[in-house]
Amino acid sequence: MTSINNVVYVLDSSAIFLRKIPYNSVTVPEVVEEIIDENSKLYFQVMNVKVEDVGREYVSKVVKIAEQTGDIYKLSNTDIKVLAKAVELKDKGYNVHILTDDYSIQNVAKNMKITVEPVVQQGISKVFKWVKVCKGCGRKVEGDVCPICGSEVVLRRVRCEETRRSCSKSKKTERKRLNDRRNSG
Ligand SMILES: [Zn+2]
Repeated sequence: MTSINNVVYVLDSSAIFLRKIPYNSVTVPEVVEEIIDENSKLYFQVMNVKVEDVGREYVSKVVKIAEQTGDIYKLSNTDIKVLAKAVELKDKGYNVHILTDDYSIQNVAKNMKITVEPVVQQGISKVFKWVKVCKGCGRKVEGDVCPICGSEVVLRRVRCEETRRSCSKSKKTERKRLNDRRNSG
């Protein structure tokens, strides 16, 4: 961490196992404990990664957000510490990016306005899903033959972003509805 203007990367173990540690990297002791094989240990040492513990108050902040997003059940203790380290560094004025392929870490980080870079996979905003589309009329259909025009149905890759957004919105509405019912009853 030479200059406050440079990007500091906070690592989870995937960057280490995949041999993709960038310069100016930091991680937490919990991640180091996950490195067991000798080659990864050697690589980790050579790359001069700074290992720092993280303040309890930052862990609490991450837990609070992860509870709100529902990611708390998918995050390991190590994942939470990695997120907390990034929040702490950001709080101290560093330009921090988390390097991870874990979707729950990515999601919580985004909610805490922390930039995430994928190690191998693409980022969460570039997630694709497959839908069945009619070759003839282009409608999204079920089954193997279009019920409208009778043409062949093919699989097509579409961006998942909109689906995700509408999904979380409807969940929020559902929660509100349940709360309203609880309060009125
Ligand atoms: Zn059709």
